[in-house]
Amino acid sequence: MVSSSISVGEAGESRTLYGVGASLGIAVGRILVLKRKTHKAARHHISAKQVEAETVRFFEAAARAEEELLTLRNRFQEDLADALSIIDSHLLMVRDKMILDRSVEIIREKEVNAEWALAQALVRIEAKFAKIADPYIKARFNDIKYVADRIFGLLGGRESDSWEGLNQTIIPVAHDFSPEDVIRMHAKNVRGFVTEKGGMTSHTAIVARSLGMVSVTGLKDVTMICSTNDAVILDGFNGRVVLHPSFEQEKQYYTYQQRYLDVLRELSTTVNLPSVTEDGYQVSLAGNIEMLDELGLVTDYGADGIGLFRSEFDFFQKDMLPDEEVMFATYREMLSNLSPKPVTIRVLDTGGDKFVNRLHFSGGHYRQERNPALGLRSIRYLLRHPELLSTQLRAMLRASRYGKLRILLPMISSVDELRKVKVILEEVRVQLESEGVEYNSGVELGIMVEVPSAVIMADVLAREVDFFSIGTNDLIQYSLAIDRNNEFVAHMYDPLQPAVLRMIHQTVEAARLENKEVICCGETAGDLAVAPLLLGLGVRGLSMRPAAIPFVKQMIRSSTMARLTELGEQALRCSAADEVREVLQDYLPKHYPELFGDL
Ligand code: PEP
Ligand code: MG
Repeated sequence: MVSSSISVGEAGESRTLYGVGASLGIAVGRILVLKRKTHKAARHHISAKQVEAETVRFFEAAARAEEELLTLRNRFQEDLADALSIIDSHLLMVRDKMILDRSVEIIREKEVNAEWALAQALVRIEAKFAKIADPYIKARFNDIKYVADRIFGLLGGRESDSWEGLNQTIIPVAHDFSPEDVIRMHAKNVRGFVTEKGGMTSHTAIVARSLGMVSVTGLKDVTMICSTNDAVILDGFNGRVVLHPSFEQEKQYYTYQQRYLDVLRELSTTVNLPSVTEDGYQVSLAGNIEMLDELGLVTDYGADGIGLFRSEFDFFQKDMLPDEEVMFATYREMLSNLSPKPVTIRVLDTGGDKFVNRLHFSGGHYRQERNPALGLRSIRYLLRHPELLSTQLRAMLRASRYGKLRILLPMISSVDELRKVKVILEEVRVQLESEGVEYNSGVELGIMVEVPSAVIMADVLAREVDFFSIGTNDLIQYSLAIDRNNEFVAHMYDPLQPAVLRMIHQTVEAARLENKEVICCGETAGDLAVAPLLLGLGVRGLSMRPAAIPFVKQMIRSSTMARLTELGEQALRCSAADEVREVLQDYLPKHYPELFGDL
């Protein structure tokens, strides 16, 4: 499903790189290589005339690194001998000829940018250190790396500098972007981006899809392969990056995009049609949104309300402290706008790959974790900071008068956790009542089923909640032990693994016995190649990025639940993901020729 290889053309000729199409669409523009977070440098050729200026730029950055270290040194008291000796060793390194002279030599010899030269100098120094037997001296390489990083940072300019001048003709390329970066790029009208890291369900990819930005990820070494200003076509449908495209290729992609837009236009006519199978089964199709600004999309695409509001994005986007009034206003707007349709608001799901650098508010602390996906994430963070949870719950309950609110708890892994949240919710209720604040007492409470332990305990959990929302993004990650952001195992991240299908089925069965609703709000819900199977396994509601709704609705309207159930049963009998894939490869084009044509 996911492969990352590179087809090499002649230098200067068109060349195609293959990665993962994380967000559909086509974008054409010029590349801007950004080196944020990673200190991997990209190579730019410079002219002989620019060599002197580049050398000066390099020396200036090294001098500033030295100044910064001296300032840092002066801040420490003389009695902090350890800290001082570390800074002193860094000062020695920053003046060391090994780094400086070698880098300048490379700039001059190869006529390349200072960042690349420094990176190459570092590679050579590392090779020398690798041969040293003495572990103490060997470990000094870390000091050299630290200093080189500092110079890199200064060469690249301050972080914000790299973001200046972004516009719709620019395609940023980097080792990785955070979800916040994507939001910032979108604000600058950037149409697409490329990363070395990441997979389909990273939050970066999710936000890109929500915002309609094209994205190709998992392209190893792309920051080294391409250079700023290279012309490029980004093909999010097939996960391709075409460098230096020929005129024919541009024409071909233009036609391709037109066809896609035609299909979209055709499907937009289904917005007001019901989402019902040919044999009369209703499937609710709700929208996943991250920001209040996306509210319009929910109605534009004919969603049955909001199935997942990832409240953390809006919260951090507004640079909020946990301000009850701002949250209240946001939730009230969503609820009153969509009433009587349901609005499912998930409490803050931070940590993992989301907003870890911002979790310092309200007396909270957050240490960089070795294994963030298994760490102080999500509901665990909130239970550690209950004041934050109660503030958010207060805002939600106060807003509940304005529409149909459903509260969703992420990453519940045990009944105890759920009960702890319920105690806090009850306290908030009592408090509101004592203050005479009105709220809707019929608000539903649900949990994300996205951790294997929740699936195993689904029969018990189903008795304690009003609904389940299956989060396949995390359920796949946790059940198969595959980090959803890790490009090295991205090819193993597979929704069709029988283990995953059995978990979904088990969750549906547990809920059915308690007469509770189950929806799915992971990325699989909007994936036409998987969604029919979810329905076949008994899921009766899907929540997805709003733009996917017309496609999924079309699929539902040309299905019968009888056929889908048969498909689900057949898939459950398979022993391997490839067998399930074969079943689907046979089923999908046969029953949905208009959706599985050759677009
Ligand atoms: C999921 O895990 O499937 C989900 C919908 O939540 P998120 O992607 O925000 O973790
Ligand atoms: Mg999740």
